[in-house]
Amino acid sequence: MDQNNTVTLIGAGLTGSLLAIYLSRKGYDVNIFERRPDMRKEKISAGKSINLALSSRGLRALREVGLEDVIMENAIPMKGRVIHALDKSLTFQPYGRTKEQVINSVSRRLLNSVLMDNVEKLDKDKVKINFKRKCIGISFKDSLLRFEDSATSEIITVNTDGPIIGTDGSASVIRNEMINIPGFNLNQYFLDHGYKELTIPPGENNSFQIEKYGLHIWPRKQFMLIALPNPDGSFTCTLFNPFKGINSFSYLDSEEKVEKYFLKEFPDVIDLIPNLTKEFFTNPTGHLVTVKCFPWHVSDKALLIGDAAHAIVPFYGQGINAGFEDCRIFNGLLNNEEVSWEKLFIEYEHLRKPNTDAIADLAIDNFFEMRDKVADPKFLIKKKVEKLLEKKYSNFLSTYSRVTFNSDIQYSEAKRKGEIQDKILEEECYKVNNAEDIDLNSVIQKINKLMKNNG
Ligand SMILES: Cc1cc2nc3c(=O)[nH]c(=O)nc-3n(C[C@H](O)[C@H](O)[C@H](O)COP(=O)(O)OP(=O)(O)OC[C@H]3O[C@@H](n4cnc5c(N)ncnc54)[C@H](O)[C@@H]3O)c2cc1C
Repeated sequence: MDQNNTVTLIGAGLTGSLLAIYLSRKGYDVNIFERRPDMRKEKISAGKSINLALSSRGLRALREVGLEDVIMENAIPMKGRVIHALDKSLTFQPYGRTKEQVINSVSRRLLNSVLMDNVEKLDKDKVKINFKRKCIGISFKDSLLRFEDSATSEIITVNTDGPIIGTDGSASVIRNEMINIPGFNLNQYFLDHGYKELTIPPGENNSFQIEKYGLHIWPRKQFMLIALPNPDGSFTCTLFNPFKGINSFSYLDSEEKVEKYFLKEFPDVIDLIPNLTKEFFTNPTGHLVTVKCFPWHVSDKALLIGDAAHAIVPFYGQGINAGFEDCRIFNGLLNNEEVSWEKLFIEYEHLRKPNTDAIADLAIDNFFEMRDKVADPKFLIKKKVEKLLEKKYSNFLSTYSRVTFNSDIQYSEAKRKGEIQDKILEEECYKVNNAEDIDLNSVIQKINKLMKNNG
């Protein structure tokens, strides 16, 4: 790189901490400013969700920096979806074609703490996390940052030398400051659903009260409950409900209503969440937003990475997988020492933008799939046919497999190919009542032909 050797990061969340490790391994000095206190020392929330589903893209980046094993030691593999019907019956839908193809439930706190520990293990003179420094403004022209000390409210101005990278998440201050730059486009789309976390505590002797190795889903059309396992035997449940209307967060305004609602809609869960009403009224209700913006950079001064550039809804379990993939791709571009920061930023955003747009769209689609379709007989036939095709033809991959288990396949390619094969599968499945009635050979030929015609 032909310019300054210090990179300033705003946000020591998951993306910022991993990026700091990558940058420092390439010889850059890294100065990170984080709004929150140090989560390893103070009892604060680790962020948006207690746990996360980590899959091949995220793990690939962690492997590159030598941290995959330590994270996986504390992860719980989830082999498939466990669907809870209203009549309490269970259906298991495996995720992958092999037993290795699982997604992993990982504690957000642990992941962020391990990353921060490893940032601090690096040369202390060259890499530093400054906690309780909330960025409140930036002058791109002068590379000047303004911070508020979140403990004392003191305002601090910092003059930076090299580029500033906004890894400050979906409500990015750096992105908000870009709004004033002509040519910067921003699109924010909030779902009319929000989310709330609830807990199924461990059973006796830290046992798991429901299937340990699964991602549990209670699909109920307009709303949905999911649960991911934690190593201590507990499950973190996330309730996705509309903000308004019947059975919405605003409707459920009394203990009686909440209990009645759970009894009716989630009859096999209510006894497993002893603090249901307390948690329901204490835990915050979060918003779900998709952010698309462009360009992601301001000359050679600043760049957005992770949720700051492309926040997505959590229904494909890909937000941080995409953020970690950002870091890996960015790191790959740092190899060319002749290139200026600005050229690198432009190359990076052109590589990533089509892919993060694709996963943003797939995540929204998956919201409707998880909420409305996982209990729909035609959808279940289609899923079964996909599994049969995956089993019989090694070259057939479902969109979910491409996204989740194949980090060599770009998100945009996964989406494009998925649309082609979905069209055929939907047409074929519409005609039958059983997956076994489908002529797999004829279906795969149609898919292959259409794929060939579409490049
Ligand atoms: C309910 C829910 C469930 C999810 N589940 C999954 C999942 O299963 N799998 C998955 O891959 N993804 C999941 N995601 C998405 C994932 O959480 C995000 O993609 C990921 O957290 C993005 O990481 P980030 O570091 O870019 O941003 P963030 O995690 O938001 O981190 C941003 C950091 O910047 C700091 N910061 C913010 N503003 C400032 C400021 N002004 N000054 C200084 N510091 C600042 C914050 O304190 C934070 O530390 C989920 C999201 C939600 C909401």
